[in-house]
Amino acid sequence: MSVLKLDRETGKGGPDFDQCVACGESTGLVSAARLHTVQVNIGLRCNLTCHHCHVNSSPRRKEEMDWRTMEAVLRLAGALDATTLDITGGAPEMHPRFREFVIAAREAGLGVIVRTNLTILLEPGHEETPGFLRDHGVELIASLPCYLEENVDKQRGDGVYGDSIEAIRRLNALGYGVEGGLPLHLVYNPGGPSLPPPQAGLEADYRKALFERFGIRFTGLYTITNVPIGRFRADLRRAHTLDTYLGRLKATFNPGTVGRLMCRHQISVAWDGILYDCDFNLALRLPAPGAQGRSVHEVDPAALLQRTIATGDHCFACTAGAGSSCGGSLV
Ligand code: SF4
Ligand code: SF4
Repeated sequence: MSVLKLDRETGKGGPDFDQCVACGESTGLVSAARLHTVQVNIGLRCNLTCHHCHVNSSPRRKEEMDWRTMEAVLRLAGALDATTLDITGGAPEMHPRFREFVIAAREAGLGVIVRTNLTILLEPGHEETPGFLRDHGVELIASLPCYLEENVDKQRGDGVYGDSIEAIRRLNALGYGVEGGLPLHLVYNPGGPSLPPPQAGLEADYRKALFERFGIRFTGLYTITNVPIGRFRADLRRAHTLDTYLGRLKATFNPGTVGRLMCRHQISVAWDGILYDCDFNLALRLPAPGAQGRSVHEVDPAALLQRTIATGDHCFACTAGAGSSCGGSLV
């Protein structure tokens, strides 16, 4: 790998993402391997309005996937021989056909992951959702960006920490996150323009703090680096720290993460059926020449296996330090 000629203070200069990747790979391109996961964003409506949200979700958003597109997503997963459907949003539980979709995916033989913000499980009308998820063997990945109340409420809104703890307590009672039960992973992301600490150490801290204070358990912790897009990017701009953060991500580029980037083994479908390499490219509406950017209704699944992935400076968030993905650190 070449030395990055980068001004670490301003974030200016240095190679672009593809040049960095080319230094570590013979092809010089980030290309797809097998696709085992179809991630699907079924709508942008959310009960929260978090500062770091990269898809700008809020209670005001109305966009949601129609049933015809949901069926096409399941057909695509079958054609790709994918093993996992990873459902996200917004708060995916708020989609009126969320349950039908989960049931159809399970009947199609897919493992189902739901990305939940936890607090939605306490909202009126959602009291039965945890039991439904348990009964259908759904794995949960839940945001809890710190084990301290102050940091969570600052990032996600007043009262979110307390509601999240209560939701985890109820999930534990149903068998989530406890030995022999269904997986409940928590997700950490930094409160500002810094890289996450080492995943294993932070997981131990979470485990100790949450058990000692509340007696609650979880399966594991995923640390995720904030990608400089959406509301988080706007916050960085306002604080005049965008360039510094980009510089930090570039300066800590780790070529060992490139082979494990999540875009290499999964594809993301937006609420309107358009395909993207990942949830971040989806948020940016960043299509690529080739199969991405097409609708799930018209795409040739074979073409997805040979695609070139659309990259940009935001990708440095996935390759910084220990790497980052929707499933936590990469190395
Ligand atoms: S980060 Fe998650 S919980 Fe927060 S507004 Fe966005 S989709 Fe909703
Ligand atoms: S932002 Fe998306 S396309 Fe870029 S490296 Fe990360 S997962 Fe891949």
